[in-house]
This record gives sequence, structure tokens and C-alpha cells, in this order.
Amino acid sequence: MSNLPHHDQAKWISQSVYEPLLSEKNMTEVSLEHVPLPSNLKRNSLTLPSLSEPEIARHYTRLSQMTYGVDSGPYLLGSCTMKYNPKFTEDVAVLPGCSIHPDREPHTIQGTLEILHTLQEHLATIGGMDAVTLQPPAGASGEFTGILIIRAFHESRGDFSRNEIIIPESAHGTNPASATLGGYNTVEIPSNGEGRVNIDALQAALSENTAALMLTNPNTLGLFESEIELIASMVHDMGGLLYYDGANLNALLGRSRPRDMGFDIMHYNVHKTFATPHGGGGPGAGPVGVISKLETFLPAPIVIKTTSGFDLFTPENSIGKVHGFYGNWLCLIKALAYILRLGDSGLLDASAKAVLNANYLGSKIQYEIPFRPFYHEFVASSGEQDAAEVAKRLLDYGVHPPTTKWPLIVSQALLVEPTESENKTTLDQIAASFNKISNEDQSTLKSAPNSTTVGKIDQATAARSPILSWHSLDPSL
Ligand SMILES: *Cc1c(COP(=O)(O)O)cnc(C)c1O
Repeated sequence: MSNLPHHDQAKWISQSVYEPLLSEKNMTEVSLEHVPLPSNLKRNSLTLPSLSEPEIARHYTRLSQMTYGVDSGPYLLGSCTMKYNPKFTEDVAVLPGCSIHPDREPHTIQGTLEILHTLQEHLATIGGMDAVTLQPPAGASGEFTGILIIRAFHESRGDFSRNEIIIPESAHGTNPASATLGGYNTVEIPSNGEGRVNIDALQAALSENTAALMLTNPNTLGLFESEIELIASMVHDMGGLLYYDGANLNALLGRSRPRDMGFDIMHYNVHKTFATPHGGGGPGAGPVGVISKLETFLPAPIVIKTTSGFDLFTPENSIGKVHGFYGNWLCLIKALAYILRLGDSGLLDASAKAVLNANYLGSKIQYEIPFRPFYHEFVASSGEQDAAEVAKRLLDYGVHPPTTKWPLIVSQALLVEPTESENKTTLDQIAASFNKISNEDQSTLKSAPNSTTVGKIDQATAARSPILSWHSLDPSL
């Protein structure tokens, strides 16, 4: 990416792309008549705390320092692609024209629709797909949308007997969850000795009941499924479809397209591959791309180009709506700003560095990495050490831990994805932290973390009975 300071990058996108569309092509909002609030909703007095500006500044700065984010240090959470999100996308997303009411008539928001249409087109190009819906608000929701499209496709051909989705054992948990929610039985297939799809097991699992195979490529071990063309023809010969879980697209961006590998339908995790901070479970967007024979099943609405401009369109056999209005608009415009700013060469550079960084880091750490050659992420094994304890100890070194104990193929798995954002100095520091920890004794690991705001927590209780308000800490307040 160029070295423009971020405000210049934002200015470039706003002046050349967003402002002409949002302030010139979007019509001024019609002002509503003043509608008085019902009196039962009004209150007569309100007591607000009286605090000075320094007190407030210090309070929020202190709170921000109690947590860890990609703005505080590297974030190795493999498969989640926690890359640094350049700030210019935030500046672009707060342009006044970005906050339109979602229920406006299409002719009054031509600029907004043009932005959405442009993103649909770019995503289609990146995946090699023929049509894209921007509606699903997450990767998992894109998967579920895809499953409904797959079902609608088979049923439109009078084929009601297909009730199985095949999923490799290394798949993300959302894959079987989406298939199950969509009414399918999942058939799990084991990996071969090299960590890839076991062709014999796939052959045995395929049948007239197969609706689709869901696959991510590179897979969760970071390995490219080199037999993907054979896999695709096996599934297609049996009348099934091929679903691409796009969460690992960061490794292939601009280099290879899921369509060319034989995939019929895919989702894009735009928050992972492009730019939206998504710690803590959101927000995100999971647009779905399809090849032409699946186009008429897409959820409504999609944005189309007409002779007079842009319009919303309901495809003929649409599965219906999967989200209100146009999807997660703010994530979508950040994704487009990122794509436009990087351009072809920048996107190629992003995938090159994502793969280079993972391989450089992998070459420096002492933990064993059983499966190679990997792309943008790798799975190391902490061997005799407990991977979860290694993860907690990394926090003491100022590094966000990798994903641990998944995929299950590697015991004590550390799934590491440095992303393209980190430089050599940081990668060297990360490697040094891993290597120090690999030589530490069990009692040091057990007591970690020692330098964080909150020490070792009971993870089950923290997840099941979280204390979410200061009220619960002191009931007298
Ligand atoms: C993140 C991820 C998903 C789910 O995507 P969300 O946007 O988090 O819902 C699916 N598959 C893989 C491999 C992932 O890494």
C-alpha cells in the first residue's frame, strides 16, 4: 500500500469516488413534518453525572488500555484474519452521505446503489463469479444463504432426495452448523496423511444424496487443496454443487479464483479479506457469489444497472430475504474503499505478503509444524506444553495468541496467521516470544498471564455467566 498519510487516502477515496456519488447523485432527504413525542414517553427531569473533560478523557483512555486489539499489537488468531484495518476506511465511512435512511426510494439514492453495485462487480471479478448478493451479515450467514440456494437449486429441478452435505474434518464449525440449520445431514470426511481431502473417503461419501461439498482452500492447515480439480469433477459428476468457504481468500487474492477451481457458489468474509475491525464477534459482512445457473435463487434485493441508473431487483426464484435492506452497509463501503485504494497491484501485494509473512514466521519458530507447504497460516504443535497455556503466556509478551487446539488434526494446535500487516521486526519479536515460551517450565505457563489487566479467568464461567455491567459488581449502586 502507498505511504500516503491516512487522511490523504481518505480524501482521495472521498473526493474521487464517494462524494460525487453520495452528495451529487443521492437526492437530499425529504424532511418529515415535526411529529411530537407522545406525552407518556416524555420525562420532566434527567440527572446526568457532572464530570470534567479530563475525567472523561482519562476514564475512556484507561478503559481502552484494559483490552487488546490489533491497534495495540499483532493478532495471530489463525483463520480469523485479524489484519490491521487502515484508518482511512473509517474516515470514508463517516462521510455525511453514508448515513442515509435505508427505506428510501431507489431513485433518491442512486449514488448509494452505484457504490453497492460497484462492490458486487468487484467481488464477482475477484471470485470469478457471475452474480453477487451483499446481504448476508457474516461469513456464517453467507454459508447459510448458500445452503438455502443449493437446496432451492436442486428442488427447482424436481430433485428432492439430496439430503447430505459433505464437509472435511478440518472445516470451520460454522460449515456443519449452516448445513444442519439448512435442514441437511452432514457427512464428515477425514483428511489424508498430508492434511488434505482424502480422495478415497470423498469417493465413498459421494452418492445420489449429495447436495454439495463445502470446502475452504487453502484449508485450515493453510494447505492448498492441490487436487481441487479432481474433487470438483467428482462432486459435479454426482450431481452435487461445490461451495467455497471464502474465509481464507486472503491467501489467494488476485492470484486465483474459486470459480476456476470448479466452485459454484462462495461467500466472501469482507471483514477478514478487506477491512472492517471484527474483534469480539463482529461486525462483518458475508456477500455470496454464484455462477449463472444459481443466479435466479439469490436473496432479494440485489442491485442492478438499468438504462436509467441503478435499481433494486428481486431474482425470479429468490430464496427471499436474509437481512434487512442492503446488508451491513458500513462494512460494505469499507470493503469497497479498501479494494479501490489498493487496486489490482495492492491486492496482489496483500496476498503475497500474507503468505510471505506466514512462511517467514514459520521458519523462525521452534515448535514443530507438521503440515507443509502452507500459505497464509500454519498450524504448529506445542508438543508437551498445553497450547492454551502457551496462548495465555504469549499475552505476557504483548502478543495476541493464535487460535488454539483447532484444527483437531494437530495435537496441541497453535493456528497462527500473522497477516500481511506485520513487518519483519514484529515477526522477529513474535518468533522470539514463541521460542522463549517453548523453553519455559510448566509453573511459569500455568500462572500466566501475569501482566494483563485481568489474570487467568475461568473461561467457562466467563462465557456462560458474564458480568456485563458495573451494577452487578456492586448491587448497592
Ligand atoms: C471466520 C470463518 C468462518 C465464519 O465467518 P464469520 O464471518 O466469522 O461468520 C467460516 N469459515 C472459516 C474457515 C472461517 O475462518
